[in-house]
Amino acid sequence: VEHLARLLSDLQDKMFQAGMEAQSSFDYVLTSDYAVLLAEEFGRKPIVNDEAAFDLYPPPPHPNVASLPTRPPVVTIMGHVDHGKTTLLDTLRSSSVAKGEVGGITQHIGAFSVPVPSASGAAGPQSITFLDTPGHAAFSAMRARGAQVTDIIVLVVAADDGIMPQTREVIELIKKDREKVGVVVAINKIDKPGCDVDALQKALLVEDIHLEDLGGDTPSVEVSGLTGKGLPELVETLSLIAEIQDLRAEPDGAVFGYVLESKVVKGLGAIATVLVLRGCLKPGSHVLSGVHHAKVRMMQDSNGKSVKAASPGMAVTVSGWKSLPSAGDEVLQGTESEIKKAIANRQRKADIEASLLDIEAINSNRQKERERRQAEAETTGEELQLPKEETPTGPKELRLLIKADVSGSAEAVEGALQGIGNHLAVTKVISSSVGDILESDVMMAKAVGGMIVGFSVSSSRPVETLAAQHDVPIAMSDIIYRLMEDVRARVIKLLPVII
Ligand code: GDP
Repeated sequence: VEHLARLLSDLQDKMFQAGMEAQSSFDYVLTSDYAVLLAEEFGRKPIVNDEAAFDLYPPPPHPNVASLPTRPPVVTIMGHVDHGKTTLLDTLRSSSVAKGEVGGITQHIGAFSVPVPSASGAAGPQSITFLDTPGHAAFSAMRARGAQVTDIIVLVVAADDGIMPQTREVIELIKKDREKVGVVVAINKIDKPGCDVDALQKALLVEDIHLEDLGGDTPSVEVSGLTGKGLPELVETLSLIAEIQDLRAEPDGAVFGYVLESKVVKGLGAIATVLVLRGCLKPGSHVLSGVHHAKVRMMQDSNGKSVKAASPGMAVTVSGWKSLPSAGDEVLQGTESEIKKAIANRQRKADIEASLLDIEAINSNRQKERERRQAEAETTGEELQLPKEETPTGPKELRLLIKADVSGSAEAVEGALQGIGNHLAVTKVISSSVGDILESDVMMAKAVGGMIVGFSVSSSRPVETLAAQHDVPIAMSDIIYRLMEDVRARVIKLLPVII
C-alpha cells in the first residue's frame, strides 16, 4: 500500500476545490470514484482493487432449458383461517410418510415432498414439494422482494364457510401473479353434511375465478383434509399443471435456492432449510446467503432422513452455517474464498450505505441552508450571517401508514421500513393494514403528520387529490426496494441541518 503522505488539511483543501465540501470532514469513507479522483489530483495513478467489489450472483439462464430434466413443482397452500390448510398439509404429509419408510420421524422444516403415483402420467413430475407453513412469512418476504418461488398455489375454500376476507386476499394475489403461477381451488370440508358446492362455485365466479366445472380455466378439486378424500385427485391435478408448466432445471452445477426457515439447534448450531431451485447441493459444498456462510455438513429431508444430494425442487435442512441466515434470502454456491470475498464486500457495501446516508443528509441540508441564506441576502441586502446552532431534541420521526395487498406482505414491508434511519431521524410505523389506499387513510396520515406507503395496492384519483390537498405523501410500488429508497430519501430530508 502506498500512502498519499499528505497533511489532512491538504487533502481537505483539494476536496473543497473539487466541490466535495460535504465529504471533507475528517471521518468520512470515500467511495472508490472519489478516492481515485483525489489521488489523481495529487499526481498519483491509483489502481482500483476490483477484488473488493467481488460478489456472487445467480447463474445466468441456461441456454437450452428444454434440454434439462424436469423438476418437482413447488406448491403453496393458501386460504382463509380455519378453512383447513394445516389439516390438509398434515394429511398430505402423513400419506407420503406412510408410503415411505416406517418409523420415520416427520419434522417441520418448512417444506415436504409427496410422491406422484406413476399412473398419473409418465411425463409429469415424480414428486411435489409443498411449502408447509400457510401464510408463511418467508413466502411473503420473498414475494415482496420480487422472488418467485411458488409454481402453483392451492386456494383452499371451506365449502361450509364460502369466500371470506383472506380468500379474497389470495384471489387478488393470484390475479397479479396469474402468468407466473398455476392455480387449483381445493373445495374443502366436503365431508360435512349440507355443503353447497354449487353455491361456492358461483361465488368464485363472482370473484372472477372461473372454474373448469363451469366452463372456465381454473381446475378445482373437492377434498376433505380430515378424511383424505379427494387428495389423490389434488395431487394428480397439481402434477398435470406442473407438466404443462414444463418446469426444468440444471440437475448439477452451482446451487441457486432460497432459505425457507432457519433456527439454532442445540448440538448442531445454526441450521436452515434450503429450497434448491437450480444445481445440486451436497455435503462439503460452500454456500452463501446474505452475509452468512456454510460449509454444508449434514442434510436431512422432512422425514429426518439423511440426504446425500439435494436436486432442484428439493428442500433440505442444512447444518454447517457459521452464522444464522434469514428466511427468504437467496442461497448461492461458490468456493470458500469467493464466499469470503463476497461477504466482505457485502458488509463493506452496507457500511458505505450507512455512511452515505450521513453524507447525503449533510449535502442536502447544506445546499438548502445556502439557498435559504442566499434568498435572505437577496431580499434584505444584508451580509450573510451564520445560523444559530440547532439544539436537537431526540430523533425526528417519519411516521408511516402501511397498506399492502395481503397481511404477509404488510409484515414484510413493515420489517423492511422499520430499520431505516439513524440516531437523528427514524421511521415509525403508525399502522399496517391490508387493502387499497382510501380517503380515511389519507385523513389518518394527515392527523399524525405521516405518509402512506402502499405495497401492491392501488388508490383512486379522489384519494390522490385529497392527499395532495393535505400534503400527505404517498409512495406506491410493487417492489419493496423502491419503497425503501423513497422512505430513505424522506428520512434524509428530516435530518437536522449540520453546518
Ligand atoms: P387452517 O387455519 O386453515 O390451517 O385450518 P385448520 O387445518 O387448523 O382447520 C380448522 C378447523 O377445521 C379444525 O378444527 C379442523 O379439524 C377442521 N377441519 C379441517 N379440515 C376439515 C375437513 O376436511 N372436514 C372437517 N369436517 N373439518 C375440517
